[in-house]
Amino acid sequence: MIARRKTRKVQVAAVSIGGDSPISVQGMTKTRTEDTKATVRQIEELAEVGCEIVRVAVPTRVAARALKKIKAQISLPLVADIHYSPTLALMAIEAGVDKIRINPGNIRKPEAQKKIVLAAKKHKIPIRIGVNSGSVLPRKGLKVMRPAEEQNLAVLMVELVLKAAHFFESLDFGDIVISLKASDPIVTIRAYRLAAMKCDYPFHLGVTATGPAEESMAKSAIGIGTLLAEGIGDTIRVSTTGPPQLEIKTAYDILAALGIRRHSPEIISCPVCGRCEVDLPKIVGEVKEALAHEKRPLKIAVMGCVVNGPGEAAEADLGIACTKDYGFIFKKGEILRRVSENALMNEFLQELRELE
Ligand code: SF4
Repeated sequence: MIARRKTRKVQVAAVSIGGDSPISVQGMTKTRTEDTKATVRQIEELAEVGCEIVRVAVPTRVAARALKKIKAQISLPLVADIHYSPTLALMAIEAGVDKIRINPGNIRKPEAQKKIVLAAKKHKIPIRIGVNSGSVLPRKGLKVMRPAEEQNLAVLMVELVLKAAHFFESLDFGDIVISLKASDPIVTIRAYRLAAMKCDYPFHLGVTATGPAEESMAKSAIGIGTLLAEGIGDTIRVSTTGPPQLEIKTAYDILAALGIRRHSPEIISCPVCGRCEVDLPKIVGEVKEALAHEKRPLKIAVMGCVVNGPGEAAEADLGIACTKDYGFIFKKGEILRRVSENALMNEFLQELRELE
């Protein structure tokens, strides 16, 4: 069990962030927000795969005006993502969103920030102060950062976020979530670690602009996972240049790998070696398909031989260890029976249905 950093609790409609709340999973739509129909459809798809808070970009007045319609058709808490324009922030708040995200790197003027804070206060919604590394420094010509520069960047990000937070507090507004995302997971980790020593605001974790799916998964797992393993982080969002559903799945995979939360079954399968006599990837694919609609947080093992299989997957709720012509079904490390190859999948599925 990971001991979590103590943070204040902030409410985003029915979902709380921080304090003793479960670490929530956030997503962001990739539709044009002005296209209400497509945006609502994508939000429903995200809710289906476990998204708990959804954010939409608000780059135009038309998008800001669409928020009310979107909000009326969805069940997830809605967050408006605002850059540069205090007017759009005020329009989003008036439209009834459940939280807004602003970047103090591009809404810098205290008068503008003050208007937003007072509106959020009036509507009783929280603000995420979301700093991205790109909005902190003019880094023209800086191709490779040296460790000291990375450190410096993290420090500047934290200074910017806390300066805004202190200003908000001076206006008697404390419903604050903060984020400090860089595209480099190491800078991201440094920034959050530093901020964790200086405040009790709940943290929205993420690594930004991580690239295409595979690279993104590794960067997110390192950035978000390292912090969560240290007890830092209250809500997470994985970013990838790919389908938004994949971001949600990856977020849950990170939480599951750390034993924090599981939203669907986890498949433990071996890497395969010279002892394997079956087409294990195919069998894993069949098991995965069979589990597609399973919501119980089970651990299911699919191992490539009977020599090491049951032992290596002893913690699984249910498993199969395959060998040529037959396989073993096992439960919590105990072998239940030997089954012929033809009957293996059916018997495994039967055991799965009967699992308590
Ligand atoms: S379970 Fe068996 S086949 Fe799979 S990696 Fe281990 S020893 Fe090899």
